[in-house]
Formats: sequence, structure tokens, C-alpha cells
Amino acid sequence: MVQINVSQQLKAPIGSIRNYKLSEVVDIAGGDSLVQGEIRLMRTDRSILAKGTLQTDIELTCSRCLSLFSCPLTLNIEEEYFPTTDVATGVPVSLPDEPGCFTIDEHNILDLTEAIRQYALLVTPMKPLCREDCVGLCPTCGCNLNQAPCDCPPKPADPRWSEISKLVLANNQASVNERKGTK
Ligand SMILES: [Zn+2]
Ligand SMILES: [Zn+2]
Repeated sequence: MVQINVSQQLKAPIGSIRNYKLSEVVDIAGGDSLVQGEIRLMRTDRSILAKGTLQTDIELTCSRCLSLFSCPLTLNIEEEYFPTTDVATGVPVSLPDEPGCFTIDEHNILDLTEAIRQYALLVTPMKPLCREDCVGLCPTCGCNLNQAPCDCPPKPADPRWSEISKLVLANNQASVNERKGTK
């Protein structure tokens, strides 16, 4: 959990800035990931704006060779956090009419965990590759060709193409016969 008490900053004047160094383990997509970086918190007229770049690694399965690998992610976070209570009086305050906006709880805790998860999901590749030139698995024996080549013969041509080439050949033959016949 990445929780920051911002009660002092909520009392500070608009524009006041606090830099927060972060090095926390966060559960991202079912695995513990160390998240590191610096977040700048700025008091605005209605919120605290959290902005910064965080680095983490998540464990992914390569879409070609199916091996697990550690994928580095960079999270460029920029989110506004709205207080739910007035810091001086403790009286609940109304939130802006923005669906899914982040909030600061009644104990003045700003929790970055959910934003970190959401940003990590945004930059997680849809088809992860353990490396750019991963050669994947042999379609015949299933061995990982990154580790060792196998002795399988080259993949046979797509049978649909050979059907087409037979047709083309037959047509050619037919037109040859036709021309012969007309002469
Ligand atoms: Zn791979
Ligand atoms: Zn093979």
C-alpha cells in the first residue's frame, strides 16, 4: 500500500509542493512488484495533484515462447486527489462530479496504490515478448527455439496454398490443351 498522510499539505497554501520518494511493494495484476520513483504532490485550490514517474517490473508470460520474464514498466502518473472531509473541521465536503476520481480519506490519507495499478495495466503490453527477437516455440515439437534449435523439418506449406497451385496448374494445362485443340 502506498499511503501518504497529507493533512499538513491540505492546510498549506495553494501551490505548495512536497516531493515524496517512493519505494514500495505493490500487488499489480496478482504479483508483488517493487515500485520506485518520486511523486510530486502539489496543493491546488480543490485537491492535491500527484505527478511523477515511477518504475516497476512485472512478471509476464511471453506470447511467443510462453516463458515467464520480468517486464519493466514506466508509469507516468498524473492524478488529482480530492479531500472527502475539510481538514480543519472534519466536515464532509462534496466531491467534484467526475466519475472515478481519486479521493483522500477522512484520515487525510492519500493512497496511490489504485492509481499505480491502473497505470501499470495501461502500459502492460497486450502481446508481451521476452525479447524483441524471440523466435518462440517449434510448431511441431514445441521446444523453445531460443534455447536450442530442434531437428524438425521446416514447416510444410499451408495446404490451402497447395490446393490453389494445383488448380492453377490444371487451368494452365487446360488452356494449353485448348490452344492445341484449336490449331
Ligand atoms: Zn519469448
Ligand atoms: Zn521442433
